Amino acid sequence: MAPAAVTPPLSPSSEVKPTVYFLDSFDSTATARAESFFRCIHPSDPGHASWRDNAKYLLVRGSYVTADDIAQAPLLRAIGKQGVGIDKIDVAACTAKGIKVFNTPGVNARAVAELVVALTTGLARQIRPVSLKLHEGQVVRKEQCSGLILHKSTIGIIGMGNIGKTVAKIFKGGYESDIVAYDPYMPEGAWEDLPHKRVRNLEDLLAISDVVTIHVPLTSETKDLIGLEQMRTMKPNALLINTARGGIVNEKDLVQALNAGYIWGAGLDCHEQEPPTRERYEELWQHPNVISLPHVGAATAQTQRETALAAVERLWAYVQQVEDIEPEMFEVR
Ligand code: NAD
Repeated sequence: MAPAAVTPPLSPSSEVKPTVYFLDSFDSTATARAESFFRCIHPSDPGHASWRDNAKYLLVRGSYVTADDIAQAPLLRAIGKQGVGIDKIDVAACTAKGIKVFNTPGVNARAVAELVVALTTGLARQIRPVSLKLHEGQVVRKEQCSGLILHKSTIGIIGMGNIGKTVAKIFKGGYESDIVAYDPYMPEGAWEDLPHKRVRNLEDLLAISDVVTIHVPLTSETKDLIGLEQMRTMKPNALLINTARGGIVNEKDLVQALNAGYIWGAGLDCHEQEPPTRERYEELWQHPNVISLPHVGAATAQTQRETALAAVERLWAYVQQVEDIEPEMFEVR
C-alpha cells in the first residue's frame, strides 16, 4: 500500500507573509527575525519610495512619520518603533486613524542610565577639559585640577520611569546617594523598593540636588522645562544631565547659566539640533564643563539588537492578531 501522503509543514512563503516597510536600517539579527515573519521592503529596495501608497506596516528607528505622511498612507495600520521615544511620530495623527504605534519601553533603560553615570562622573572629574589640554600638548599637573566627589551626593531625578528608576538604583548602590524624585504622573507608593524622597514640585528638587538628571518625554509640557529661572535656583556646584530630548533644557539659557556660574556643568546626550555641530554649539562648547554627545544613549551593540528585536516582536504580535495568523505557520529562527 502506498504510504499516506504527508502534508509538508507550512513554511512562510512570500504570499503568506504580510509586508513591512523599513523606514530605517535595523540591526542585522532583528532584520533576520523580521524577514522570517514578513516580506520586508528596505529603504534601498525598488518600490520603497512609494511606501505611503502601499504600506500597512512600518518599522522605524529614527525617521520622522509626520501628519502628512499619515494622511498619504491610507492602508497604514501599525508602526513598530525601535526605542521608547515617539516624538518623531505624529501619534495624534496615528490615533485619529486608528494606527497603532508599538515602541519598546524599558529595553534601553540600562544603556541610557549607564551613560548618565558616565556624563556625571566625567563632568565631576573634569575629564573633557583635562584630556583636551593633554591632546593639545599642554602639561597638566594634578594641582591644577579640582573636581567634585559624587559619594553621598543628592541626585534629583525628573521623570521616574524606566530610565529614571535605573539611574536611581545605580547612584543609590554605587554612590550611596540620596534620591529625590519628581514625577507627578506616577501613583502614590511608586518605587517602594527604592529609598527616595518624593517632591511635589520641580523647584524643591532643583534647590537641593547636586545632580539633576532629566528622564521625561519631550511634550508641550516639558519643552523648556529647565530655563534660566530654574537654573538660577540650582546649587552652584550642580551638574545638569539631559539624556532625554533636546528642547527640554533651553539651550540659550544654559549658556547664560553656565557663564554666570549658576551651575557647575552640563552633560548632554540630546540637543535641539541633532547631530549637534560646532557651528551651532560653539558657544556652549567653549565652556569647559560641558560634555555633548550625539544621542548615543542606546548606542551599544547589545542595546541596538535588543530594542530592534523588541520592535519587530511587538509589531509581529499585533499583526498575528489582526491578520488571524496561526503562529505555527511561521518558524521562528
Ligand atoms: P518612561 O515612559 O518609562 O518614563 C518617563 C517618565 O516621565 C514617566 O514616569 C512619566 O510619568 C514621567 N513624566 C512625564 N511627564 C513628566 C513631567 N512633566 N514631569 C515629570 N515627570 C514626567 O520613559 P523612559 O524609558 O524612562 O525614557 C525617558 C525618556 O528618555 C524618553 O521619553 C526619551 O525621550 C528618552 N530616551 C533617550 C534615549 C537616548 O538615547 N538618549 C534613549 C531612550 C530614551
